[in-house]
Amino acid sequence: MFRRALREASSKLARDLPWIGSRDPWGILVSEVMLQQTQAVRVVEPWRRFMTALPTAQSCAASSRSTVLELWRGLGYNRRATNLHDASRAIVRDHDGQIPPHPATLRTLPGVGSYTANAVASFAFGAPVGVLDTNVGRVLARAIENRRLTHGEAQRLADALVPRRASAAHNQAMLDLGSQYCVGAPRCVSCPLAHHCRWRCDGGIDPAPRSAAVSIRQSPFEGSDRQLRGRMVDVLREGPRRLDEMREVLTTDRERFTRLLGALVRDGLVEATSATVRLAGDTRSPIG
Ligand code: SF4
Repeated sequence: MFRRALREASSKLARDLPWIGSRDPWGILVSEVMLQQTQAVRVVEPWRRFMTALPTAQSCAASSRSTVLELWRGLGYNRRATNLHDASRAIVRDHDGQIPPHPATLRTLPGVGSYTANAVASFAFGAPVGVLDTNVGRVLARAIENRRLTHGEAQRLADALVPRRASAAHNQAMLDLGSQYCVGAPRCVSCPLAHHCRWRCDGGIDPAPRSAAVSIRQSPFEGSDRQLRGRMVDVLREGPRRLDEMREVLTTDRERFTRLLGALVRDGLVEATSATVRLAGDTRSPIG
């Protein structure tokens, strides 16, 4: 019943996002990596920019690290860009440039976990697997079971709900429902699935916040190491810098600067000598 009601409500739930409805595996992989930890509306413009410049895994694999990081601007979590770059090279090297269709093989690519693997397998190849993110986790816990779910239970439930011949449309509707109505503070009054929702019909304590697939609130961004790492990459997008000048621009203490710079080098985002620092693969001369 729920699945049928979801299908009937899918046109009302549909969001206008450029990658939705696409069957291009590369475009879907890029969108899913960008959507990890970034809201869909903030992904639209960077996704268009990225796909215009690097429309295939081959073109991405052939570009420099600094080009990929430049195209990633505005998204943050730059480690995702280096993972995507590494994944494109693995696709060219190990899969003849073709994105593999099976979730287990997709999961061997750098930065591709079970959510992203299932999303690419379902949206690009129609694989009958459930796409389980934090939004879908809330829908499952509330509308289907009205109880807290472990991650394994949620994934099994998500898989069991997928119709064999309409995997992509079903998973997209679940994501649309979870991101627009079944949010942290759910919009049950206007939800088109309200009559088919167990929690709405049976009542009780909201099971979603305690469910395993539902993320907890992140620690504050302002002043965090994550923020400073992002600023370091932003500064280097303009061009290589002298090391001493870079530290001044960032106005942070030497110990923290050295620690975070070391992490960026280890992660393959940045190259540093005793005098200069640059995005990996950036061949420009230092600014100033
Ligand atoms: S009725 Fe409320 S809890 Fe149930 S699916 Fe809709 S938004 Fe979620």
